[in-house]
Amino acid sequence: MKILLSEAQILDRVRALGRQIEADYQGKPLTIVAVLTGSLILLADLIRQIQLPLRVALLQASSYKGATTTASDLVINDAFAPDVAGRDVLLLDDILDTGHTLSTLVRHVSERGALSVRTAVLLRKIGRQEVHLEPDYWGFEIPDAFVVGYGLDYDDDYRHLPYVAVLDGPHAS
Ligand code: 5GP
Ligand code: MG
Repeated sequence: MKILLSEAQILDRVRALGRQIEADYQGKPLTIVAVLTGSLILLADLIRQIQLPLRVALLQASSYKGATTTASDLVINDAFAPDVAGRDVLLLDDILDTGHTLSTLVRHVSERGALSVRTAVLLRKIGRQEVHLEPDYWGFEIPDAFVVGYGLDYDDDYRHLPYVAVLDGPHAS
């Protein structure tokens, strides 16, 4: 396993993102909606860097990608997301890959009456995006490789690693 981003590098960057978000949402009713499960570690680190009143909500989005197509059907479960009507929402995900997940979720949250919807991701993969979506906040650009750690899994393992690493060997992506 090759470490791509160290624990210290990630925490430095998350701190900076926190400062930026804090400045942008002064006096606004902020709700951070984190996409399970990959963004959990980022959520925990990021909200502790934002000294503003804020709410935390969780939603789950599972995509079922066919083997022969890039089209994805997203199943959204927002049982743990309170009412976002009239709130400024910041959608938080681990990684922006094709962009299908986040763009679908932006639409979903907007339809539920959010005042505004912005997006934040820790990672963005270069050269993979299929849907036009410019994240409002992002931590690092990474090459097109399958990464694990800091919340990101392979087969539900490796999420607990404090760093981001490229997994060796064959894997599903
Ligand atoms: P998108 O809809 O942007 O193509 O996919 C975003 C989702 O795909 C992420 O939330 C994440 O769950 C998964 N994903 C994309 N690239 C990677 C990766 O390199 N590693 C892991 N663990 N998950 C990834
Ligand atoms: Mg995910």
